[in-house]
Amino acid sequence: AAKAAGKNQVAVFDYTLRAARLHHAEIAAGLRQALAAEELTLAYQPVVNLTTGAVYAVEALLRWTPSGGRRVPPDVFIPVAEDTGLIVEIGRWALEQACAQAKQWHRRYGIAVTVNVSGRQLRERSFRDTVLEILTRHALPRNALTLEVTESMLLATSPAETQRIVAVLADLRAHGVRIALDDFGTGYSSLAYLRTLPVDILKIDRSFTTPLTGADHRQARAFTKAIVELAAGLDLATVVEGVESREQAGILQQMGCPLAQGYLFSPPISPAEVDDLLQVSPWQHAV
Ligand code: C2E
Ligand code: MG
Ligand code: MG
Ligand code: MG
Repeated sequence: AAKAAGKNQVAVFDYTLRAARLHHAEIAAGLRQALAAEELTLAYQPVVNLTTGAVYAVEALLRWTPSGGRRVPPDVFIPVAEDTGLIVEIGRWALEQACAQAKQWHRRYGIAVTVNVSGRQLRERSFRDTVLEILTRHALPRNALTLEVTESMLLATSPAETQRIVAVLADLRAHGVRIALDDFGTGYSSLAYLRTLPVDILKIDRSFTTPLTGADHRQARAFTKAIVELAAGLDLATVVEGVESREQAGILQQMGCPLAQGYLFSPPISPAEVDDLLQVSPWQHAV
């Protein structure tokens, strides 16, 4: 519920409703020009193998710095991009850019790129063809791309539409593209439902990571361990998000969690910094 509230414009800004609406309009106007003005970039955050430290993938994360302004965080502008429909164009750009930038990383180090996809994009009739066309044009193997979706975007529509979206994801997966379920544990889907989804990777939300070393750590660890084991039983890989301390990493490794992401390993960084990271210790990177 806290996470849901965090995505709500009014709650984020704690403004009056009217101010929030003005702000929304301002962001929408700025976003409309952001692509053409080349104000959008992608940062990449490594996903690492907890046992070997090897970089397994990089997650592409949108960054927006309006010219002459301050950076606007994705949690603020993505919802506006979704409301206005601009996310379709921005999302296509992100996919295109990520595939172009990740090509070398994949060729040299076997690293996959993961791209976040919004519900609005998924519902576009052309989504499947767009993804396959971009991969073909960049000559990127399909298994070098992972699409991140959330449970909520699968549930936030009619059952028929959900079925259609699940079929699109299953189709892409049959073509080799991997699907990750992002922010797992914050939605409402039952474990039985999870079994029916075309998913390869479970990304356990950051809200599970912080309590691993908190006051109620016994409960928190039992919970995370159960998810990790369930995922393994379903042949899913798990990535734990938001790992910030060595202690958390150690606990997760002991649980048998294979992959992690977080400030402990690296914040989201520029493509040039990814190059450096991969070059400095190539021995770390399993292909
Ligand atoms: P997400 O996909 O769950 O991405 C993880 C977020 O957690 C990122 O925030 C990342 O910077 C942050 N993070 C990573 N490690 C740590 C850590 O150790 N501690 C803490 N406190 N945070 C950490 P960011 O970049 O602000 O992105 C926020 C959300 O915006 C993303 O959550 C995703 O839902 C959305 N987003 C970002 N880029 C895109 C995009 O290209 N398309 C779509 N549709 N959504 C995007
Ligand atoms: Mg993500
Ligand atoms: Mg996430
Ligand atoms: Mg998220």
